[in-house]
Amino acid sequence: MEELSKLTSHPTAADLYEIVRERIPNISLGTVYRNLEFLAESGEIKKLRLSGEQARFDADTSDHLHIRCDECGRVDDFEFEASDPVAECPEKLRGYKIIGCRMEFHGICPDCLGKKSGD
Ligand SMILES: [Zn+2]
Ligand SMILES: [Zn+2]
Repeated sequence: MEELSKLTSHPTAADLYEIVRERIPNISLGTVYRNLEFLAESGEIKKLRLSGEQARFDADTSDHLHIRCDECGRVDDFEFEASDPVAECPEKLRGYKIIGCRMEFHGICPDCLGKKSGD
């Protein structure tokens, strides 16, 4: 949790394991994973499921969107002001109670754009 809150890179369990292992050399990936799952279930962190990716973890539990780089896979927070599409069309919900909405942006990050133009 402590390590995760320092990061804004939305690491996977394996990424965090590598970082935590620097401090606790005999920790196992399973322990890191279980702790992350536990924290995600208790709502202290967010578990992100982006398409075609391993789950990533985010210490920022506020509602925010993410953008993923198609080239290197890096994930950044993304500010996007939009009115709530769910609130606007209750008559179109076909009787469903909406629990959440997943929106994901993807593109090419500034680093990868820089590499491309350097070619
Ligand atoms: Zn990139
Ligand atoms: Zn985030």
